[in-house]
Amino acid sequence: MVRAVKPTRKRDGRAGPPEGYPKDPEKYADPANWKYPVHTPFHARAARRYFNKEGNRAKYSPEEQAFIDKRINEALEKFGVAVQVKGGEITEEAGTIQADVPINKDIDAMSLDELLGVLLGTNRLASAEGISPSLVSVDKATATLLSGTVKAYSVRIDTQEKRIEHDCVDFRTNRAKARLFCKHLGAFLLQIDHAQAVRLLRELLRERDHWTFE
Ligand SMILES: [Zn+2]
Repeated sequence: MVRAVKPTRKRDGRAGPPEGYPKDPEKYADPANWKYPVHTPFHARAARRYFNKEGNRAKYSPEEQAFIDKRINEALEKFGVAVQVKGGEITEEAGTIQADVPINKDIDAMSLDELLGVLLGTNRLASAEGISPSLVSVDKATATLLSGTVKAYSVRIDTQEKRIEHDCVDFRTNRAKARLFCKHLGAFLLQIDHAQAVRLLRELLRERDHWTFE
């Protein structure tokens, strides 16, 4: 692994923060040049997309690239955005996640609705809230295992193994590979103990890349 070294000033670097952007250099993955701002989930994701482009990476030494990659990944993790998709390949999340999940908070400051909003997006969160509690059954709820059903689908969340299993089409074909929730998982989390749901979602978002969704 290449040692991470803070980038030096570049010829095409900026002398200061762009208008409307943070004045704290620590909010940039490349602080010396005020580039790749990572102060919101939206910007962190954009930074990841731009910095994945070969032409942009080539402006930096391998050590500087490692520094910028680390900063971007730390920001993505802080905001609960998955860094990688299944298989270890770096995600192009733009097509999968709504560009503007309206959350700029740290995970520890998020409410249950906000936590679910990150994993569901606005439309699916509304759908999850629209599922009648009578269609949700929580069969098992221990400190490490939650299981039950939502409509005809099964839900199993194992916090020890860090594994979520669910069998609807939306989850299997779209959501699982980006480690996101479908409306059923949202509805399930809304029916379990509130404090446990918050704890689980915070843990999940913090360690998203270590969880298996399938
Ligand atoms: Zn589902």
